[in-house]
Amino acid sequence: SVKNVSRIFTKKEENVGTEALHDVSFDVEDGEFICLLGPSGCGKTTLLRITAGLETQTSGEITLNGVPITGPDPKRGMVFQQYSLFPWRTVIDNITFGLEMQGISKTEARKQVEKYIDLVGLEQFKNSYPYELSGGMQQRAAIARALANEPEVLLMDEPFGALDAQTRNILQDELLKIWEQKHVTFLFVTHSVDEAVVLADRIVVMTARPGRIKEIVKVDLPRP
Ligand code: ADP
Ligand code: ADP
Repeated sequence: SVKNVSRIFTKKEENVGTEALHDVSFDVEDGEFICLLGPSGCGKTTLLRITAGLETQTSGEITLNGVPITGPDPKRGMVFQQYSLFPWRTVIDNITFGLEMQGISKTEARKQVEKYIDLVGLEQFKNSYPYELSGGMQQRAAIARALANEPEVLLMDEPFGALDAQTRNILQDELLKIWEQKHVTFLFVTHSVDEAVVLADRIVVMTARPGRIKEIVKVDLPRP
């Protein structure tokens, strides 16, 4: 639940700040696929980062099942545009990272993440290093890594923005299949209308200067 969230960035040398978010409110249903859509600078990333606990709001509040967000938590998994895998770890050891952080042994963690490797189709690449993989494969690994923590919400910031059009379409289809299987709430940032329409149950349309909600649109198109 996003309630009256505003974020003003002030720089020392300026008197006026940038209002990245102005009084943004909306509720998300459990298991919904929401896209935040809007041009560069409308506050999409800021809103996602506040939800992730990586950024703070100036006023307002975001709660998850009634609990205010105060910092990062593996229950809110995040996938970025840049793949952000650890280059010194293989695919499987990237995906086990969160479980290892919780104190689970590497052997046990490797067993637990097999299903996520299968889910994103990386069986043949699980012992590869990120540099050996295409961008699409790296993003599949990043999605598996986020899901391996069994998040309640998966936050994605233009995850397919750096991919070619064909790969992007394939990953969109795969992401929808994952979403249908996992029943996890997806919050997905994009500046592409096409992408939002293909993916979302509802689209939160935003505008810039200040960043705010223009409208919230329900999408009722058949999914692929
Ligand atoms: P860190 O590496 O510590 O996480 P960031 O990359 O988040 O730092 O930010 C570095 C600096 O750039 C900060 O002073 C921040 O205020 C500024 N900054 C970050 N993102 C933006 C943005 N989208 N627009 C303007 N300034 C930004
Ligand atoms: P979007 O993701 O929609 O492109 P952002 O959330 O990155 O929008 O940015 C919204 C506005 O806030 C922009 O004007 C941006 O320059 C500004 N901004 C974002 N992060 C920072 C920061 N750390 N410091 C200063 N300004 C920022």
